Amino acid sequence: MLEGLKECKLCPHKCKVNRLEGKIGRCRATEKVKISLVSLHHFEEPCISGTNGSGTIFFSNCNFNCVFCQNYKISQEGMGQDVSIEFLANSMLEEQNKGAHNINLVTPVMYVYHIIEAIKIAKAKGLIYQ
Ligand code: SF4
Repeated sequence: MLEGLKECKLCPHKCKVNRLEGKIGRCRATEKVKISLVSLHHFEEPCISGTNGSGTIFFSNCNFNCVFCQNYKISQEGMGQDVSIEFLANSMLEEQNKGAHNINLVTPVMYVYHIIEAIKIAKAKGLIYQ
């Protein structure tokens, strides 16, 4: 399922590093999925946050290096924790159970393969979002 990480081309940088063997590309993401925060977020545009909030999952690291990033510690210093795909799936369900209007993946590109697997697990457990 994570085979694509052997020669990572998940974003336009196309580093082609083998993340499964511990090599690190420009985004500094490893073979593990890493997240810094899971929470109901009320401060996106009203059509996203609605009344209950969006179910935000902030991913650690980033494939951009924006000078004025407001989430610098998360995006550039990698603040967060490695988690399992199962944990990620359960985090989505947790947000749903709290009443989130959607699941809001913040800087997810480096972890697309993990996220696809997590969504499959979460769907099997009752995730309702499309
Ligand atoms: S996701 Fe990371 S390792 Fe993969 S191509 Fe983009 S910057 Fe490189």
